Amino acid sequence: MSSSETLGPPWTILKILRWTTDFLGERGCDSPRVDAEILLGHALDLPRIQLYAQFDRPLIESELSAYRQMIKRRAAGEPVAYILGERGFWNITLKTDARALIPRPDTETLVEAALKLLPAPDADQELRLADIGTGTGAIALALAAERPDLRVAATDISAETLGLAKENAELLDLSDRVSFFQGDLLQALPADWHALDMLVSNPPYIGESEREELMRDVRDFEPAAALFSGEDGLDILRRLIPASLDVLKPGAYLLLEIGYRQGAAVTGLLEDAGFKDIDILPDLGGRDRVARARRP
Ligand code: GLN
Repeated sequence: MSSSETLGPPWTILKILRWTTDFLGERGCDSPRVDAEILLGHALDLPRIQLYAQFDRPLIESELSAYRQMIKRRAAGEPVAYILGERGFWNITLKTDARALIPRPDTETLVEAALKLLPAPDADQELRLADIGTGTGAIALALAAERPDLRVAATDISAETLGLAKENAELLDLSDRVSFFQGDLLQALPADWHALDMLVSNPPYIGESEREELMRDVRDFEPAAALFSGEDGLDILRRLIPASLDVLKPGAYLLLEIGYRQGAAVTGLLEDAGFKDIDILPDLGGRDRVARARRP
């Protein structure tokens, strides 16, 4: 124990973790210990659990300076996924940077629902799904990885963001079944993608009025265009929901990620557009997260 009682050189794994946990906490980080461990594991190329087995291991100068660089960025509020350059999502790992929203565990609720509702594989027919506003490509690529019979169109309004999604498709070796189209919502889809077996989207749904409620890390680092959608957050859904009827096959599902306070409003939009079998599904925290509906 004695070697870890005082802070300062020589820095061991335990001492530096204690120091950075305090430092990040003072800088307003809300998960300082976990973040310190993840970043140190990355700097040392060790699985996090190994840090615990090697608490008294001293750090050499090159390890310290790599770690210091990362801690500086985190202390300024930059999210861990941007510092590491990757984030795990469902069954895949995605490259992440400031071009796109960081994939969230909440969005796995939508992936899970999509897998449940997709028609069974049919040897004679490939299924067609579109992911509108694909960001990193998270939903499109997770679904394509799970279902080899699926062909996916992934769209985004930002060419820069779509560049990141394409890089992810290449890294995951899914480029042959996932096509990318740039444009505004459904206008991005070419005519041969107008009879879909499923349409999914995690669009921007935060209201401008909620801007001040957001965590600094999100507000200052993630792309605003991926977060906000008008005063109440529903502007994009007001356009996307009615338009999606034109590109779904009869009986095909529409799945949308929504804000936890938007269940009733989105149900109303789906009813007004003429959708049937409307349901709001909860995320792991039990809050409204996904709207599900079917074209009649
Ligand atoms: N579809 C992407 C995701 O789920 C991006 C969502 C967004 O930018 N609003 O991560």
